[in-house]
Amino acid sequence: MQISVKTKDQTEMIDITSKVQAAVRESGIQNGLVHVFSMHTTAAVTINENADPEVGTDILNTINKVIPWNDHFKHMEGNSAAHIKVSLFGPSETIPLENGSLVLGTWQGIYFCEFDGPRNRWVHITVIPAEKGF
Ligand code: ZN
Repeated sequence: MQISVKTKDQTEMIDITSKVQAAVRESGIQNGLVHVFSMHTTAAVTINENADPEVGTDILNTINKVIPWNDHFKHMEGNSAAHIKVSLFGPSETIPLENGSLVLGTWQGIYFCEFDGPRNRWVHITVIPAEKGF
């Protein structure tokens, strides 16, 4: 199944935990693994702190400093910085599912990372059921 994410800035971290949980609930599967996958080459998925929104701000400020938008890149589309960031963050995360709920630590949230926005994006979610006795 897929969920849509509308981004507003060029770089942005959006907490999609509740959207993922809702999609998982719809599947009816109670136990297993949830795979959350960004279907884009310039947007990633990561897990990090969702208690203080400034953590996301610090992550973006740092990654934007390390990989500036313009750095004599050769890619004609002009968005190599976004491609590099996605390769560093990765396009997906896998989260355990127990009794219908995502198993996340107290401070963990699932973030969609926009690196070349604003755009309308898609996240693909696969729920893999555990075998009996798991
Ligand atoms: Zn490109």
